[in-house]
Amino acid sequence: MANEFFVKSDVTFGRNAVEELSRVLEGFKAKNVMVVYDNGVKAVGIADKVLASIDTSKFHVVEYDGVIPNPTNEVVEKGYALAKKEKVDTFVAVGGGSSIDTAKAINVLASNGGDIMDYEGIGNVPKGVFPLIAIPTTAGTSSEITNVSALVDTQTVRKYVVIDNKLVPDKVICDPEFTRTVPPFVTAATGLDAITHAVESYISNCSNALTKYNSLRALQIFHENLPKAYANGDDMEARENMMLGCIIVGFGFSNANLGLVHAIAHTLSAHFGLAHGDANATVLPYVMEFNAQKCPKEMIEMAQAIGLPLSGNEDEDKYALSKELLRMVKDMNIKPLREQGRNTKITEDDFSMIAKEALKEGPMHFNPRQDVTEEMIVEILKKAF
Ligand SMILES: [Zn+2]
Repeated sequence: MANEFFVKSDVTFGRNAVEELSRVLEGFKAKNVMVVYDNGVKAVGIADKVLASIDTSKFHVVEYDGVIPNPTNEVVEKGYALAKKEKVDTFVAVGGGSSIDTAKAINVLASNGGDIMDYEGIGNVPKGVFPLIAIPTTAGTSSEITNVSALVDTQTVRKYVVIDNKLVPDKVICDPEFTRTVPPFVTAATGLDAITHAVESYISNCSNALTKYNSLRALQIFHENLPKAYANGDDMEARENMMLGCIIVGFGFSNANLGLVHAIAHTLSAHFGLAHGDANATVLPYVMEFNAQKCPKEMIEMAQAIGLPLSGNEDEDKYALSKELLRMVKDMNIKPLREQGRNTKITEDDFSMIAKEALKEGPMHFNPRQDVTEEMIVEILKKAF
């Protein structure tokens, strides 16, 4: 069977890459530019640095600073109203996945109209969109590379995705210097999200040789560099490598998709407000222990790729990776599920609801084990608790 591998990205990578921004905007013949960011990016001076790099004698600049973690439909609609009023024809997203996902969604509405939920699912954006330039400030989501916008519908308390190749940013400006100020707990959570992308896409039931190549190389880069970036945020070599790994893994997982970790994580974020990276990290080792029963060969390939000691006994070795992931999660002080939850604390009474909701999630279709039941997810949540 023939495999597909879609890549569209145009990347400028390196320190001070942001100085290219005005030239890039000129290339897109931009007139009215919307810069989308959040408070955190503003507080550390990155938003101002990006804004200062735009030549305002050539472009009318509109700022939208309403981005929040786990962005909602309301956040997108507010941005769309402003974009419409200001006749925005080009978008610049500055920040982590939340900012880039928000800009992608506003762009869909600015170019296609309607309600953002009309575009839920895969390939439902009919008309072309305006140019979008992504400037990531974390090394984690790979939203700068992917065709995905993940949003929260506050009405049904559900995280959902709009996936369409038209959403892939037209230009990525990666300046590793922008990740220097990211605090250790965010470096850990976003980096473990990136590791989850590598692992889940490697074992996805629609992975292929090209996606696997990207997933495996990215896993090696993350395994070597994440502990360094976590221990010392000023280790710019490690920071740069993490950012590079996110581009590599983005090519992999936007083609191979993800799995059960993301299905559970989306539910945890929608109902309890967990940051995306924390939500993944809490369950990642236990889901991989669970999946290892279906794909021992792939688990051992990943363990070998990152140089874990193996015994030669498949029944033992298939768990080497999940054990290593658990060690990393603990070393980087990711709190167990019982201590997570931004809106309300999670209790064992919530497990059945979380499991039911996770089973309805899109990424479930790509998990190697398709025999997953509510009870099995509850067992995973108990271990993570
Ligand atoms: Zn993710």
